[in-house]
Amino acid sequence: MAENILLAKEARFRSVVAVAAVPDYQDRERILSALRELLQPFGGMQGIVKPGQKVLLKVNLLAPARPEQAVTTHPELLRGVIRLVKEAGGLPLIGDGPGVGDTLTNMKACGMSQVAEEEGAAILNFQETEVFEDLNNRVGKRVALTRHLRDCPVLITLPKLKTHVQMAFTGAIKNQFGLIPGSAKGQYHFRFQNRDHLADLMIDINRLAKPALAIMDGIVAMEGQGPSGGQARQLGALLVSTDLAAIDVVACHLIGLDPDRNPLNLAARRADFGATRLEEIQLYGTPLESLRIPDFQLVRTPANIMRILPLPASLLRWLRRQIAARPHIRRDLCIRCHRCSRGCPVSPSAIDPDRAPGKEINDASCIRCYCCHEFCPVKAIELKKSCLGQLLDFRKLADAGTKLLGRLVSFLTTKNTKKHEKKSGKMRR
Ligand code: SF4
Ligand code: SF4
Repeated sequence: MAENILLAKEARFRSVVAVAAVPDYQDRERILSALRELLQPFGGMQGIVKPGQKVLLKVNLLAPARPEQAVTTHPELLRGVIRLVKEAGGLPLIGDGPGVGDTLTNMKACGMSQVAEEEGAAILNFQETEVFEDLNNRVGKRVALTRHLRDCPVLITLPKLKTHVQMAFTGAIKNQFGLIPGSAKGQYHFRFQNRDHLADLMIDINRLAKPALAIMDGIVAMEGQGPSGGQARQLGALLVSTDLAAIDVVACHLIGLDPDRNPLNLAARRADFGATRLEEIQLYGTPLESLRIPDFQLVRTPANIMRILPLPASLLRWLRRQIAARPHIRRDLCIRCHRCSRGCPVSPSAIDPDRAPGKEINDASCIRCYCCHEFCPVKAIELKKSCLGQLLDFRKLADAGTKLLGRLVSFLTTKNTKKHEKKSGKMRR
């Protein structure tokens, strides 16, 4: 493949995505040489990492699952990336804030702990956070992300290519949701029940975290009911890019998903976050058509993740009101500057300081993004918790819930994989 690689991006393209055919994870040297070749258009790993820099390798550690279940980034790909970071003089650190289970349990289950130990890379537990801020963001102007982002000047994201029951697809953009530690993610799911708003949040998180590079594990992908309940499917593709939107577009093309049916791609387009159309992308390496799987099982009707919970919609709405604090205008402080209504991402604005007292917020349309709170120059907007919200610590409840859920998901994914293997005999290509 090396001789096919051009090192300069043509002006008519916005971004570059490099793709290599890698059939499996057996041959470490093959993975390493594929990574080296894929990194050439970006100046090699040396073009991304400078000697002495700490490099955060953000893996997908969604749940405690074995590598062959294709729920998490494969440990052999992680090994190759660690080696290249070290060759470039960087200090590799591995981390994720899994939504289910906890970092160390999940790392052990999926084989990453062993690779980290063998390759001499430290594991980071994403628990403490710092607030990252960008007032130009659409819905996530201030988001509490792992504090390790401050210590690591370089972030490399290592997503797993999977279907996703809510977002249709999860790849490079979605992987940064794990920078929000564990159960705190659940609060965002409750706040942003509209898929497009959640997709906007994902883009905002990426704008805050600024990943330098994405290396996508599409060697064995997940089809069907991803990101944890689907089946492993051999795709044989390894992808690299500095543009996260572009690498997702190419990945979607490989599995036959129209990128315009991917809410994350549409959110990236709204925010002008990278190349969101295949024709804007310069491709290097293996031709896409040789890797494409026409019968890859996609999610037919992406669902609202809250609706997946076996609870009535009215109860979910009620829970949402208890968990997500409600903005409230203090009339005694408000100077009627209308920055809140201008900054509200909902159209028409869900906040209007000119309405009658107590009716300034439209509860039905407010998505609890708190942009109004961020924009108010005189701190006239308070975030009020419900009575129940003040009594109960939902964070602690959610932490306990995710650990319990971790055990359940581990059990179910193992059962699902065994059932599928028994039915099909072997993994499909
Ligand atoms: S009113 Fe405030 S919290 Fe509600 S959607 Fe508008 S900006 Fe977000
Ligand atoms: S931004 Fe604050 S001060 Fe300005 S109108 Fe809104 S609540 Fe009032």
